[in-house]
Amino acid sequence: MTRKRIYEIARDLNIASKDLIEKLAEMGMPGLKAANSLDEEEYALILNLYEEETAVRSAQEEKTEAAPSKKQAVAVEKPEKAKTGRPRAPVVSVLGHIDHGKTTLLDAIRHSRLAAREAGGITQGVAAYQADLHGKKITFIDTPGHKAFTGMRARGARATDIAVLVVAADDGVMAQTVEAIDHIRAAEIPMIVAINKIDKPNANIDKVMNDLTKLGLTPEAWGGQTITVSISALKEENIDDLLEMILLVAEVEDLRADPKGDLEAIIIESHLSKGQGPVATAVIKNGTLRAKDEIVAGTTFGRVKALVDETGKRVREALPGTAVEVVGLQDVPPVGTLIEIRKDLKEAKQVAAARQAEEEGPRRARPKLSVEDLFREAMEEQKLRLILKAASTGALEAAQREIEGLDVEDIKVEFLHAGVGDVSESDILLAASVNGDCLVVGFGVKADGKATRLAEQQGVNILIYEIIYDLIDEIERSLKQMLAPEYEEARLGEAEVRDLFKIPDGVVAGCYVTDGKAVRHANVRVLRGDDEVFSGEIASLHRFANDVREVQSGRECGIRIKDFDGVEVGDRLVIFTLEEVAR
Ligand code: GDP
Repeated sequence: MTRKRIYEIARDLNIASKDLIEKLAEMGMPGLKAANSLDEEEYALILNLYEEETAVRSAQEEKTEAAPSKKQAVAVEKPEKAKTGRPRAPVVSVLGHIDHGKTTLLDAIRHSRLAAREAGGITQGVAAYQADLHGKKITFIDTPGHKAFTGMRARGARATDIAVLVVAADDGVMAQTVEAIDHIRAAEIPMIVAINKIDKPNANIDKVMNDLTKLGLTPEAWGGQTITVSISALKEENIDDLLEMILLVAEVEDLRADPKGDLEAIIIESHLSKGQGPVATAVIKNGTLRAKDEIVAGTTFGRVKALVDETGKRVREALPGTAVEVVGLQDVPPVGTLIEIRKDLKEAKQVAAARQAEEEGPRRARPKLSVEDLFREAMEEQKLRLILKAASTGALEAAQREIEGLDVEDIKVEFLHAGVGDVSESDILLAASVNGDCLVVGFGVKADGKATRLAEQQGVNILIYEIIYDLIDEIERSLKQMLAPEYEEARLGEAEVRDLFKIPDGVVAGCYVTDGKAVRHANVRVLRGDDEVFSGEIASLHRFANDVREVQSGRECGIRIKDFDGVEVGDRLVIFTLEEVAR
């Protein structure tokens, strides 16, 4: 082995590059990047150190038995699920292509299994409700689109635990089905496919299963992992089977929450009500939200005036696994905002005000990254996440092929979604919902106004190109830049210009070397007072009539500078070379 890159070493050691870089800085090698390499000796040193640490750690762990090792700590990327506390109801959202029966399914469940039916009946327009099967509860989120999915990426919080994907058996997998699947995959939550409309004469369950298999979602019935349930939402057939399946998946997920723990509540819908002012529906994932709590939600705050359940009934508190309407905020918070409880209204106001000021100040959204930055991160993670949009299927396929064909530094390209059409809000939501960076790239398409605004808010990068090769060029350019060696000036000496001699092909400066040495073909900077008037190369160096390689300090010499005849008596020449340094 000669040299090994830092990210490779980190992978060998099963730690994050970031941690390794920190460790190397502590060891006196600061400023390294994941793409830098270590030589054999340095590699051996770091290997030793980690082996020792691992030994010490496992000895300690044997004693304490608990503490998760660093390896485990690094491996956990998903938000920690509360493994303590009581089991809680799963929070489920229903996704699928338009007209495949999402609304009808939610109505069917509401009709047959509404948990709180006896309390007040069905209230229309509530963003969530609880179903009840044999005393076990399931909370359904009834909001359109993929918004219920988009938690706050920074906090890793997500509203939904399980997704139900509705596919109509008479239509099969369609464009929005694929989009929904990509959202579910990005959210890293389990999914159940509800094959709907099986009552229709032209229903073709096999075709749906075939479509799913093509997308890597082979149904269990066909030997795969994907759970499917065939239903008729309209005729309310097999609805209980679907609910049963949801409870089963929830059991496997081991969803727990501590009602006395920290509040984790995510807003899934919000609006301005004429009578009540701002109203937000929140899903409680952990802790308890109570009436009169002083809360902050993003940049707004308030005291909870009322909590209203799905039947329109006022409740005193909302426990984990439920959804409630919250009345009392000063403003309408955006979907995805987390609610936090504060000590008093004053503190809540302060926190909200500070956030507002930050938002209104110079843009504080995560700074946009250049393609080069993105690749640097991609190299560290060895993964580049992309959402690809193109004007036609042909263009899309070509772009995918070209990008997959890019063989750069073992970076794996992962397409979170690839579709035909302009860059939309849904694309940005998807990009923002994943941990880490995701680049949205469009070829020959536009990003609409809403998408652009949302991208700015969320710090998502959109790159639009006319043709695929423009992107490839840019990627190659940044890679070259990234992998090119860096140079550092090594000063050799300095000379003073005391005389000038005209020769046929230019001017020779008669110099006196004041320190160090002058060297032929070295770099030179011409200084006049404090100004640099030229920077170039020493073309020739003479001592008396002879060409020489170098002249030491305290001696006179003649220096001709390549491509520069403007040298004057009194100028100082700084002589240096460029040395390659490890990046
Ligand atoms: P959404 O756009 O996904 O919310 O779809 P809807 O729930 O609005 O359903 C679209 C249409 O399909 C409506 O006319 C429904 O009555 C119909 N539909 C939904 N589920 C079924 C079903 O199981 N069988 C039949 N035959 N029609 C259904």
